[in-house]
Amino acid sequence: MTIQPLIIYNTLTRQKEKFEPINPPFVGMYVCGPTVYNDVHLGNCRTFISFDMIYRYLLHLGYKVRYVRNITDAGHLEGDRDEGDDKFSKKARLEQVEPMEIVQKYTLGFHDVMRAFNTLPPSIEPTATGHIIEQIEMIKEILNNGYAYEVNGTVYFDVEKYSKEFNYGQLTNRLLEDLIANTRELGGQDEKHGRLDFALWIKAKPEHLMQWPSPWGMGFPGWHIECSAMSTKYLGQTFDIHGGGMDLAATHHTNEVAQSQACNHTQPVKYWMHTNMLTVNGTRMSKSAGNGFLPGELFTGNHPLLEKGYAPMAVRFFMMQTHYRSTLDFSNEALQAAEKGFQRMMAGIKVLHSLKPSGTSTVDLKTIRQKCYDAMNDDFNSSVMMAQLFELMRIINSTNDGKEKMTQADIDEAKSMVQHFVFDILGLKDDSSGGNDNGLLDGVMQLVLEIRNEAKAKKDFTVSDKIRNSLNQIGITVKDSKDGSTWDKA
Ligand code: AMP
Ligand code: ZN
Repeated sequence: MTIQPLIIYNTLTRQKEKFEPINPPFVGMYVCGPTVYNDVHLGNCRTFISFDMIYRYLLHLGYKVRYVRNITDAGHLEGDRDEGDDKFSKKARLEQVEPMEIVQKYTLGFHDVMRAFNTLPPSIEPTATGHIIEQIEMIKEILNNGYAYEVNGTVYFDVEKYSKEFNYGQLTNRLLEDLIANTRELGGQDEKHGRLDFALWIKAKPEHLMQWPSPWGMGFPGWHIECSAMSTKYLGQTFDIHGGGMDLAATHHTNEVAQSQACNHTQPVKYWMHTNMLTVNGTRMSKSAGNGFLPGELFTGNHPLLEKGYAPMAVRFFMMQTHYRSTLDFSNEALQAAEKGFQRMMAGIKVLHSLKPSGTSTVDLKTIRQKCYDAMNDDFNSSVMMAQLFELMRIINSTNDGKEKMTQADIDEAKSMVQHFVFDILGLKDDSSGGNDNGLLDGVMQLVLEIRNEAKAKKDFTVSDKIRNSLNQIGITVKDSKDGSTWDKA
């Protein structure tokens, strides 16, 4: 089997490139994390789940990945161009709490959601407020290098000066003139020198709730500088992969590149990766558009646009069915189809665990494994890989029906493929059996029902009723019929 090398689509070069880490087997990966002034919506989750799959695949290939995903807990203004209020201060005032209470509440909520979707925790989860010193140091260096200026306690990045030496619009392939033309003209009260200039450090008004001392007076960092400072600190001046949603490329990531170049004199990132958006009826799901389902609402079905609740794994399956660079449109029908698909896959895996080996084989599992790797190595195409996994399920079910034959080696190989591709890489788990336990609950339940049957046979109804009632209390129903007892999870 010749496995093709991993190819990644690089936003920076706008082409697919062979993945060659700077210092193999180590891989540095930075993903812009949530701004924790609010609950994450399902769109945000799509980006984090996509990068979880990418992280999982890199680990599967044997890379030693340092995965950094930050928490933005300061410095994010309402407008991307240094306008509006600070999101944390505004929310804190609204709820009459400390800004750090807001941060704590939504960080914990974010972790709960990520756990429900079975994402692996990142290696480091740094916060903006924990790295004020690093941000100030970086701003000082950018000022020293002549790419920034201070006006009245606020420090701005000088895009015009930077553009004389570097291509500012490089990441999204835009010309400077077009960018300027598409940005609002400066007014008399603007402190900025140029329309595209953005704040590295923002002077705080006395009533501002989160502020720190700096060489330019009391203030707080701009949003973009945190990611440049934290990625440099933990992954170095140039690292392998930087990711985030596509919506971040035009401003946040463009400014990150400029800051890092101006500070460190080098391109910060070898492969820029951007996930496409989750949409609702074609419109991007976002907090501001008001079309964002919270994962909790999705799990319970408690939202006017939802016909019912969906289990986290059915939702993850729904996301994995579409390539991360394609848009994914939310609809009840699409989710219900994904739920059915997920259940079919889990049912196939259950059947696999009950297959009896035959002396001969009529199946070719090697080709399916090869095609799974080919799909994943083609820019993490989980969608194509899932079609292959359904081919595997078809073979398993045909074997169970006696139309195909599998040896013990085939069965072992099928189990290994399920472990690798379904559980390790796609990050799915069987909710119905309480986790990715390969039928552990089934085994335990079989034993419990055997003990109950023995009790019934001895007419010990105290024990048999106790078992049934206790199972009932933890959400497992037992049904008795003339053919024996069966169980189901509520
Ligand atoms: P935010 O908390 O708004 O900074 O967003 C966190 C992450 O979610 C960023 O990487 C965004 O690009 C991403 N994101 C926001 N909206 C969507 C969406 N509708 N679909 C996919 N990703 C999104
Ligand atoms: Zn960022």
